[in-house]
Amino acid sequence: MNDGIALTGSATVTRTREHTEKERRVKRVVIADPLSTEGLDLLGAADELEVVDVSSEGREALEEALGDAEGLIVRSGTQVDGPLLDVAQHLEVIGRAGVGVDNIDMRAATRRGVAVINAPGGNTSSTAELAFALLLAAARRVAEADRSVREGRWDRKALRGRQLQGNTLGVIGAGRIGTEVARRAHAFGMRILAYDPYLSSERAADERIERVELDELLERADFVTVHVPLTEQTRGMIGVAEIARMKPTATLINAARGGIVDERALAVALQQRKLGGAALDVCETEPLPGEHPLREAPNLVMTPHLGAATVEAQREVALEIAKRVRDALVAADLTSALNVPQIDPKERARLEPLLELGRRLGVVLSALTDGRCERLEVRYAGSMRRVLRLLAAACLEGYLRSTVASPLNLVNALAVADERSIDVARVRRRRIADYANYVELTATGGPREQVVGGALLEEGHRRLTRVGRFHVDAMPRGNLVLVKNRDMPGVIGEVGSCLGEAEVNIAEYHLARTEAGGEALGVIRTDAPLSKELLEELSGLPSVIAVRQVVLDS
Ligand code: NAD
Repeated sequence: MNDGIALTGSATVTRTREHTEKERRVKRVVIADPLSTEGLDLLGAADELEVVDVSSEGREALEEALGDAEGLIVRSGTQVDGPLLDVAQHLEVIGRAGVGVDNIDMRAATRRGVAVINAPGGNTSSTAELAFALLLAAARRVAEADRSVREGRWDRKALRGRQLQGNTLGVIGAGRIGTEVARRAHAFGMRILAYDPYLSSERAADERIERVELDELLERADFVTVHVPLTEQTRGMIGVAEIARMKPTATLINAARGGIVDERALAVALQQRKLGGAALDVCETEPLPGEHPLREAPNLVMTPHLGAATVEAQREVALEIAKRVRDALVAADLTSALNVPQIDPKERARLEPLLELGRRLGVVLSALTDGRCERLEVRYAGSMRRVLRLLAAACLEGYLRSTVASPLNLVNALAVADERSIDVARVRRRRIADYANYVELTATGGPREQVVGGALLEEGHRRLTRVGRFHVDAMPRGNLVLVKNRDMPGVIGEVGSCLGEAEVNIAEYHLARTEAGGEALGVIRTDAPLSKELLEELSGLPSVIAVRQVVLDS
């Protein structure tokens, strides 16, 4: 018997099942945007599920189907907003077939206790292949050669290219896609360099990748390919100065996200022949605006964001999301959920101030280590019980925040750390000194061990109390500038006037030192973030040894 799903219009019931009160265990999954049949079949094969496909229908049919649904699968086409969630009173899981969840109101879903799951791995191979296609097309000037033949020319001399075999590929961001590109480049006989603070030496050795700093990569590589997420740190990462470091014969590829490469700087470099060539699958504004300087740039291949646009990627993504949604609904497996776990709200409220301290310490530590870490130890001293695992997740959430493309939270932070081969240790200590709750993070595996510590005071205030060897007392909020300097007279004045001249207002200035005449650390809270130029100016002051900026409330 059809269970009488009352859908308007011609909504397709892909699979139906007896749905009586007795059989309430059968859960309904609504498909709101087109999903490959492989994904639909995987869901349909589960006895516990029934699939209702309204992807060819309008919002009204979707709302009607959602009234009695436990699962919802969307691509980027459906806006999952508060009003839609209001009609989905039984909803447990939203699956996004793809990576980005910008079309899902995460806050509204989380508030309603609905888990949000995405499918980040399904398009890895297709995107890596497109990056490689761009690499070859740029190296052998395929698009330009095609145009010239169609125009009646036979310019074999003018179209001389570059060979991959024996040349060096620089991979910026050796995550899922970057690693796949590196594997393909090995098959072409290339040497591989990578810049990625999260690439462990173990994984680099396994993948036969040489880890280098960004400047060295830019200087040595014949081809540079970008595979980082677009974050505050990576926006404009390849600009005028970085392009100037590259060989004038080198080729730059970006199949990651628009905005990572400075498009104007790239257009100028190509026009002035200061760069051999470039290939882009993505741009800052998509579609590329009509008057954009890249349209006139020579030796440039462009594609309209085709990374994941293959039959196979669509199938893989559909299978991945179908499997994750099935496991969430049938086996209550929420390990791939992106939003906050369902902890009892009262318990959550009790723990939140400590978790927020952990997040903030994680952000400070990330600025100190440049994200380079193989082992993170989270120590907690205080009276809260059953908090250590969540606290470690919160610290990692802060620590990894600026480097991850997809949403990061308490549910997935430990799993992301594991993916990045960061070994996380959790240590419980007895109460330390005057602090009711003290958290200390130690990162090892980078150039040097880094430690930060902080306290949650009785009245709920948070304090940053330790940075490396220095004992400080600053509020971990807003914008902090950490200045390590030689302990000598006049430093505060010098730093203060440098900031004053740039019209940056100082809210707090704490100074700590280990011994007179040794080294000191200034923790300065400013009203606004410092520009790159101003940070460089500060670093250049004679008394200053190092400067780091930490933006805590962006
Ligand atoms: P991933 O999270 O697996 O890998 C990203 C890597 O970048 C990580 O290893 C991380 O450590 C590194 N990283 C982060 N910040 C860095 C920094 N400041 N400097 C150096 N390395 C840094 O992501 P992925 O799945 O490999 O995706 C990579 C990129 O490709 C993302 O931008 C994603 O949006 C994009 N993408 C594009 C398409 C397309 O259609 N063109 C399709 C899928 C993904």
